[in-house]
This record gives sequence, C-alpha cells and structure tokens, in this order.
Amino acid sequence: MATIGSPELLIVLGAEATSEQVDHVVARLDEAGVDARVTRGREATVIGAIGDRELLATLPLEGYPGVEQVLPILKPYRLVARELAPDPTVIEVDGRRIGESYFGLIAGPCSVETREQTLQTARVVAEAGATMLRGGAFKPRTSPYTFQGLGVEALELLKEAREETGLPIVTELMDPRHVEAVVESADVIQIGARNSQNFLLLSEVGRADKPVLLKRGLSSSVEELLMAAEYVAKEGNDRIILCERGIKTFETATRFTLDLGAVAVLKNETHLPVIVDPSHAAGRRDLVLPLARAAAAVGADGIIVETHPNPDHALSDAAQQIPTSEFGEFAAEVTAIATLMGKEIG
Ligand code: PEP
Ligand code: MN
Repeated sequence: MATIGSPELLIVLGAEATSEQVDHVVARLDEAGVDARVTRGREATVIGAIGDRELLATLPLEGYPGVEQVLPILKPYRLVARELAPDPTVIEVDGRRIGESYFGLIAGPCSVETREQTLQTARVVAEAGATMLRGGAFKPRTSPYTFQGLGVEALELLKEAREETGLPIVTELMDPRHVEAVVESADVIQIGARNSQNFLLLSEVGRADKPVLLKRGLSSSVEELLMAAEYVAKEGNDRIILCERGIKTFETATRFTLDLGAVAVLKNETHLPVIVDPSHAAGRRDLVLPLARAAAAVGADGIIVETHPNPDHALSDAAQQIPTSEFGEFAAEVTAIATLMGKEIG
C-alpha cells in the first residue's frame, strides 16, 4: 500500500480543461478508491492521486478527456512540492497577502512583555506598512530561568493590538495543550525552530483552520523542512509559510548562519511562500538590515523581524531587536529591494 494521504501520481489537465472533465477524472479515481486533491491554476489543473500504486496503474488515466500528462511523484514531499500546484501559493489573511508577488513584512517584539510595549510596537509597525504583527506569548527559551512568556495574558494583549491596528497576529504555539487558545487568538500560528520536527504538533496545526508559519529547525536540512511542512499539509492544512531563520554551523560570528541558498532552493522545490527571519540569524541588531535586504534580493516572499521600543531592556533577544524608532527607515529600505524584485508589500 502507498503511504496514506501521499499522492503517487500527478494528473495534469490543460488550462482549457472543463470542470466536467476534472470532475470526471475525480469520479473515476473515487470509484477506484483513490483519493484526489485538485489544485486549479491559471495554466493548468493538477490532480494529485492518492492511493495504491498498483491500483492506480490499472486506470487509463492518460485516456481521460482533458488529461495532458500523468507524472509519478519522485520526491519524498508531495503536497508541498512545486509540481503539485500549477501556481505559487499565496497566503491571504484578512486581506493581507504573502507569496508570489506579495512580500510579507511581519514585525513585532520577540516577546509580548507589557500592554504598553505591545501596543506601542504595533502602532509603529502598522504605521510603517507592516503586513502582520508578531509577538511571542509562549517562549521557547534555552534557559528555564529566563522569561518564558506571558502565555494566555499575552494572547489577550495581541488581540487588543489587532483590534487597534487591524494587523493580523502571528504567535508561536509550543504545546498541543495550547492549540485551542492559540488558534482562537492568532491569525497565523508560528511553529518555532525547536518544534520544527515535533510531528505531533505539526499534525495538530495541520488540522487547524489557520495558516501556519513553519520555521526551519536549527539543524534541519531543506528536505527535512519540506517534510515537516508535508506533515501539516497531509492533515488538510496547506496554508503554510516556510521560514529560513539560520542554521547551526561552525561559524559563531552570527548567532546562526543565514542560509540564503536554501531560500533559492525552496523557491524551486515548493509552491509555498518562503520568508526569512534575519533577526534570529543575525543575533545582533546591526546585521539585521543587511540580512533583510539580502533576503528580499534572493527572492524571499517576506521577512519576520523583531523590533522593540527599548531593545536593551527586552526580556528576550535584547541584542537583536531593532528599536521601533528605526523601524520606519528599516521597512523603507527592505521595501525598496522587494520592489526591485517585482513585489509589493502584501
Ligand atoms: C521567535 O520567533 O521568537 C523564535 C523563538 O524563533 P526561532 O524558533 O526561529 O528560534
Ligand atoms: Mn526572538
């Protein structure tokens, strides 16, 4: 038997294929006990056929009206593979967009600390044209003796910030026991680097009705990141934003090594939007702007960046947060490169 839920074949219909033709193929697959995932694009409609390989081989797929090509899927990732979707995926949240020609500018504090700090930051980033507001409520800290986040109280503050500024909220989920609270409050659920291969958590958010911002693990390969995304997609949630945030290497001059090559690879390998976190990669604020510019130039679909009204006194990641007083200028510089790349702020 094939792996449950993983397409074995891509059935490609041309742009001129009618919905009757698409329905006909889906109905034949259905009769044979094979699941179908239909993705309609501008140039083609792609049906991912999910089921027993031998059974699939008995169907005259190439002969069905409208079918142009039948291709086996050779990569370990399937639902997130470039080939499965004719067009790049655009994630839309409350009228804000990330992907294809839309550059997402996600900004906010590392952690939600106080009401004033959160609202002040939200106002600044909204004013500068940010796409969404970030802010950690549950924090994955290396030391158990440091600030762990305000938890549910922070979710309330983020909601207040959204109400005032209209910015959708991105916040991290660390624990399956918090799924309900985070899904109810957040517009986009962040899965952090440290939970990037927490497969149970990935399946949980795969069943949630909210987009997922999935960070690359500290030591994950590109393929491992895509397989993590596959866990989410397999449960039915294909609204996923991938995030390169730097990896562990021998180099210690930066906190992590920002792997911009991976961004270029991911843009080839997947239809999902790919953003960059220059803050955690840099680990120091003077490097955040050059890395953010480079991210825009390499073709990333956005950035997620940390900013704080008084970064030196921040309760987490003090060294890397840029002061909100500099955020407007920062946003303008990054936007200029994104515009050169043919993107507009989503
Ligand atoms: C964060 O976004 O604050 C964070 C902890 O990021 P990462 O999971 O990439 O370390
Ligand atoms: Mn942080």
